[in-house]
Amino acid sequence: MARLVMKFGGTSVADIERIRNVAQHVKREVDAGHQVAVVVSAMAGTTNQLVTWARETAPLHDAREYDTIVASGEQVTIALLSIELQRIGISARSWLGWQIPIRTDGAHGAARIQEIDGTELISRLEQGQVAVVAGFQGLGPDNRITTLGRGGSDTSAVAIAAAIGADLCDIYTDVDGVYTTDPRIVAKARKLDKISYEEMLEMASLGAKVLQTRSVELAMVHRVRLQVRSSFDAPDAPWGAYGAGANGPGTLVCDEDEIVEQQVVSGIAYSKDEAKVTLVKVEDKPGVAARVFGPLADNSINVDMIIQNVSDDGKSTDMTFTVPQAELHRAEDVIRKAQKEIGCKEVKTDTNVVKVSIIGIGMRSHAGVAKTMFQTLAEKGINIQAITTSEIKVSVLIGSEYTELAVRALHTAYGLDAE
Ligand code: ADP
Ligand code: ASP
Ligand code: MG
Repeated sequence: MARLVMKFGGTSVADIERIRNVAQHVKREVDAGHQVAVVVSAMAGTTNQLVTWARETAPLHDAREYDTIVASGEQVTIALLSIELQRIGISARSWLGWQIPIRTDGAHGAARIQEIDGTELISRLEQGQVAVVAGFQGLGPDNRITTLGRGGSDTSAVAIAAAIGADLCDIYTDVDGVYTTDPRIVAKARKLDKISYEEMLEMASLGAKVLQTRSVELAMVHRVRLQVRSSFDAPDAPWGAYGAGANGPGTLVCDEDEIVEQQVVSGIAYSKDEAKVTLVKVEDKPGVAARVFGPLADNSINVDMIIQNVSDDGKSTDMTFTVPQAELHRAEDVIRKAQKEIGCKEVKTDTNVVKVSIIGIGMRSHAGVAKTMFQTLAEKGINIQAITTSEIKVSVLIGSEYTELAVRALHTAYGLDAE
């Protein structure tokens, strides 16, 4: 007997037929004698619709009320799945975040889970009841509903797995695993049997939305075994049928030393959620960077890539940095207010950019990895506007019209193409 968390995303619960299919996946595990907690998202498109309604009512709205609206999608799917499970003879009960409770901090719209009391869930599971838990939501310090940021059901699932000591957390989605890059833009993308927590963390934070970044962080800290797999494949064998430690049908996110054949570059990610800000003719003297980035930090605006050009006249230079697209308006506002103090001539912005990143633990011990990236892009005539690196990734900022071309060329250059 094992204890499992099974998470199903929006497309997996998009209509009643799909919900019946999810129930069959759950039934397979229950019939094999396993204890099951299920985490579900809202039906595909629902959360987007709820966000749109909130924005339509008032573009700048109260974040607490936003959370109350957007958390409602999951309330529908937990009850629908519970009804379907009961219909096919499985004991099941739905749980909203506050009923468990899943305690979070007060950062409405992007709350972090602080504590989950697993006692009641464990006792129900031990009685043979399936717990169907609403993803994406929690309860803030003031006892109001919070949400965990878009894609947050993955994080709910991992946090619940940690809280109830699950043997495995399965993330069921519309692809059958984690690929070397987004299979929707590269037909030759290859499914990975295993990926390390570190690489998955980079992939997620650099744009591969298959797992929410925070869910990977939590899995790494709490050592939760995490598998990404398809909900569309016909349910075949239950957990354990693959043998202890053997690969399941999807991609296992695990410790680096469990991976035998490690590539230098394991994956490529891209993010269109970037915006570039250029300050034209900034004074070239000590203290200027602090005057630019101080006010941005004070306003909690995340700055990612930064480049400062060498000045030709020793007096002024251009400074470029990137921020998430959603924060561009605020960033512009902050910079314009401080423009006089910064002493720059002009502020230019550009949203027509994409950040493309190569990721791989092997980079730690191999030289020349970045060179291949720059050469490959040069051969395709793609201009690099900014670069950042860390121990296991290199990111470049390029014009967004080159996204597919760049990702495909890099995929081939690093030998990742499927045969
Ligand atoms: P869900 O609704 O189940 O949470 P998401 O849409 O959030 O599903 O995540 C699954 C999607 O992630 C896939 O449809 C795929 O297009 C995208 N994706 C991006 N990068 C990757 C990758 N490297 N491997 C697999 N899927 C990826
Ligand atoms: N329903 C939420 C969203 O669309 C949470 C999730 O799907 O993980 O962002
Ligand atoms: Mg998702």
